[in-house]
Amino acid sequence: MRVRVDPLVCEANAVCVGLAPDVFDLTDDDELRILLPEVPPEQADRVRHAVRSCPKAALTLEE
Ligand code: SF4
Repeated sequence: MRVRVDPLVCEANAVCVGLAPDVFDLTDDDELRILLPEVPPEQADRVRHAVRSCPKAALTLEE
């Protein structure tokens, strides 16, 4: 499973970072960085939850 962010849509509110901090991070410039674009199986449920919870729908999953 892979996760991607659309940087033009993301508003860097860190909802996903709070839900899956091992996978998502914010840079000092308030840009979302995906630490693990190839999502490890043990992170899959957290990442799915984060994708559903993004208020901007900026995250996309490829299963
Ligand atoms: S939850 Fe969505 S809008 Fe917020 S930082 Fe993550 S990808 Fe960006």
